[in-house]
Amino acid sequence: MTAPLIDPYHRAISYLRVSVTDRCDFRCVYCMSEAMTFLPKRELLTLEELDRLCTKFVEMGVEKLRITGGEPLVRRGIMTFFEGMGRHLESGALKELTLTTNGSQLRKHAQALHDCGVRRVNVSLDTLDADKFKAVTRWGRLAQVLDGIEAAREAGLRVKINTVALKGFNEEELFTLTEWCARDGHDLTFIEVMPMGDLGNEDRVDQYWSLNDLRARLEERYSLVDTPERSGGPARYVRVEETGQRIGFITPLSHNFCESCNRVRLTCTGELYMCLGQEDMVDLRAPLRASQDDAALESAIRAAIAKKPKGHDFDYSRQEVRGQMSRHMSHTGG
Ligand code: SAM
Ligand code: SF4
Repeated sequence: MTAPLIDPYHRAISYLRVSVTDRCDFRCVYCMSEAMTFLPKRELLTLEELDRLCTKFVEMGVEKLRITGGEPLVRRGIMTFFEGMGRHLESGALKELTLTTNGSQLRKHAQALHDCGVRRVNVSLDTLDADKFKAVTRWGRLAQVLDGIEAAREAGLRVKINTVALKGFNEEELFTLTEWCARDGHDLTFIEVMPMGDLGNEDRVDQYWSLNDLRARLEERYSLVDTPERSGGPARYVRVEETGQRIGFITPLSHNFCESCNRVRLTCTGELYMCLGQEDMVDLRAPLRASQDDAALESAIRAAIAKKPKGHDFDYSRQEVRGQMSRHMSHTGG
């Protein structure tokens, strides 16, 4: 039995988020620039290497694995990787295998994901207006994503909609989105926009819509009851009395939740980021490739966890962006 992963602040690390590609079929304005340059394929971990690394983390106590990107479902052969991870669900070592997706490829993969043991999927959707969807994703088509969500439902996957709260963009859709989720039985989580990646003329402070304000707007129409429910991530939840639905809030800016952080993030090149909002990382690809024996890999993972920082430094409270990260969200995996 390997010793569990405990960081210097006594937080047990049981959740690994894995970005399996930096590529995407969309170019969301808060995530990527239109002319992104992507990594050469040879830089990426192979599917076999991803399997070996994730398996090591599971052996070291990771119980929840979230596959993300870029868009995870555009990585060629990715279902082989999901099938491989399914064996850890069957053995009971892994409690949850899930993914965050833009939904564009769900029609193609939803059933196979369910067959691999995936039961929940997060789909990012910021608007239900086709023109606005095109504007925010630049390359996406709303109808394809809605069809993907429907396919997920048909396959028996529970869907959680992730919506980035964007000032002047989806403010007036707050109730439409909430009611649509209530009607179709999806959970809904709002996320504050974070200063990830330099996107040229996108101004984060202008984009930022505090979830304190968003919640106050919801309370003009609904009674929200705080619940202690957690889903292993940073969201705090409320129940909407009128509809019975659950709404989550991910508030890295207005309410820092780092004290309960249980996760680390692996990039598609094998860098392990101990915090989304700090630059420090540890390369796991070199020890992975240096030997078929896992000893060096295991000590590199332990050394990384021993450096996990207390928290991020994101802050817009002085009407300027503090804690800006140079890397894009698609690099570390959102
Ligand atoms: N392509 C997939 C998707 O869109 O769901 C997975 C990767 S994406 C980077 C993961 C999540 O990060 C999405 O919900 C997206 O809205 C969110 N995201 C991207 N950039 C962000 C930013 N600057 N601030 C907050 N959330 C962001
Ligand atoms: Fe792609 Fe997701 Fe980033 Fe949008 S948020 S560009 S879908 S990785």
